[in-house]
Amino acid sequence: MSGPILEVRDVRKRFGGLEALAGPSFDVPEGAIVGLIGPNGSGKSTLFDCITGTQRLDGGEVRFAGRRISGLAPYQIARRGVGRTFQLGRLFGRLSVLENLLAVRGPLEGRRAEARAHELIELVGLTRVTHELAANLSYGQSKLLEFIRALMLDPILVLLDEPAAGVNPTLLERIVGYVRGLRDRGVTVLVVEHNMGFIMGLCDQVVVLDHGEKIAEGPPQEIREDERVIEAYFGR
Ligand code: ADP
Ligand code: MG
Repeated sequence: MSGPILEVRDVRKRFGGLEALAGPSFDVPEGAIVGLIGPNGSGKSTLFDCITGTQRLDGGEVRFAGRRISGLAPYQIARRGVGRTFQLGRLFGRLSVLENLLAVRGPLEGRRAEARAHELIELVGLTRVTHELAANLSYGQSKLLEFIRALMLDPILVLLDEPAAGVNPTLLERIVGYVRGLRDRGVTVLVVEHNMGFIMGLCDQVVVLDHGEKIAEGPPQEIREDERVIEAYFGR
C-alpha cells in the first residue's frame, strides 16, 4: 500500500433541510479494501453519489489520484478510473446481460468491449445467461451483473454499495472471493455493507458514518469495540 488514491475532504450535501453529509473527511489508501458502514440514512450512498459525480457537493472536495474530481460529470470520473455499483441496482431490464455491460463501455472499442464483457461474465459464472434479459435474472444474478458492470472500464478504484445485501451465504462467500480477487490485482475497493462478517473479514480499514458525520475510523477489530459505533447501531 502507498499513499491515498482517494481523498474525501469536508464533504457537505444538503437535501432541503436535511444535512445528509456534514463534512466527513478520510483517505482511502491505494490497494486497500476500506469499509464504509453506518446506520440506515447515515449518508453512505449519498457519499458514493458525491464521489462519482451523481450528486453535486455543496462544500468540500474529493480528490482522486491526486487531482480534484468533484465538479466533474459522472462519465468523466468513470473514465478516470472510478467504477461503482448502485445500492438499488441500475440495470436495464430490457437489455441482455451482455448489452448491459456494453452500455458502459465508454472509450473501449467494440471488439475490446465485447472481449472485456465476456471475460467478466465468465469470471462470475454468468455465461449461461449472457443473452438473457436482465429483467429475467434471479436476484443473485442481478447482484453479480451489477458488480461486474462496475468493472467494465477496468477501474483503479471501485465503490460497491451493498454488493452482498440479501444474497444467500454461498453467494456471499463468492462475492467475498471476487472482492479479494480485485485487491490481488491492485484494485482499490471502498465498500458499503451491513453484513459485519463481510466487513470484518475483508476490510483493512473501516470508516463509520452517523448522521452524515464520521464518528470513527480504524482497523475492523477496533471499530467493532468502539463505543460510539455500538451506540450508533444499537443505542436507539
Ligand atoms: P445510507 O446509504 O447511509 O442509508 P443515504 O445516503 O441513502 O443513506 O441517505 C442519507 C439521507 O439523505 C437520508 O435521510 C435520505 O433520506 C436522504 N436522501 C438521500 N438521497 C436523497 C435525495 N435524492 N433527496 C432527498 N433526500 C435524500
Ligand atoms: Mg445506502
